[in-house]
Amino acid sequence: MKRAYLFDIDGTLLKVRRKVNRKLIQRILERFDINHRSLENLDFAGKTDRDIFSGLLDKPENDLFHQVKQLYLQELERHLSAEDVQVFDGVHDSLDYLQDKMAWTGLLTGNFARAAEIKLAAIGLLERFRFGAFGDEHHDRNDLPPSAFDELIRKSGESFHPSDLVIIGDTPRDIECARSFGSISVAVATGTYSHDELSAWNPDVVLSSLAEFPEWIEGFTTCRRKQT
Ligand SMILES: [Mg+2]
Repeated sequence: MKRAYLFDIDGTLLKVRRKVNRKLIQRILERFDINHRSLENLDFAGKTDRDIFSGLLDKPENDLFHQVKQLYLQELERHLSAEDVQVFDGVHDSLDYLQDKMAWTGLLTGNFARAAEIKLAAIGLLERFRFGAFGDEHHDRNDLPPSAFDELIRKSGESFHPSDLVIIGDTPRDIECARSFGSISVAVATGTYSHDELSAWNPDVVLSSLAEFPEWIEGFTTCRRKQT
């Protein structure tokens, strides 16, 4: 059965050391003389970068937003190294598995597109993803699946249905956005939400990590094949 797989980045594929990202953002806000309370207790999980930076600046749609965004991307590129990034268990094996199946594999992430590139390039995974939707254009994560879907159709030249998409992420927002588009939702408990917390949002499955993904998708596909 034809399927396409869309991965969230932070908390799902990898973790950027918290101190690195927060300190970088704090420094940028200070450089622009933007007073903001400590970032330590703010919850970024599942939010788009556009939403995060808009919230920090209060007035999102102005030149300042674009200046801060550009500086954030420059600083991220300059300072992020592979040592700052932890790749979660099973990520390489899951991507190898999908590559062997010649599946369409993409990104569905709240990161700015360039931030996604920088993070994935730091650990050599950028080339694994052929399409995606990012946090540049949208405040609301639920607006990302239609964008990714349109790009999938355009790039593959094939027809897909929203239920052919498997959306993989680590927060209730990932689960919600999969459901809003009628797609399959895979939750992984490698981010800030526990297995039980994610289960409460009723995704199609909760995995402890992507180490469980190839076996689960194999069983899921076989099960669906028998039903049809
Ligand atoms: Mg995430």
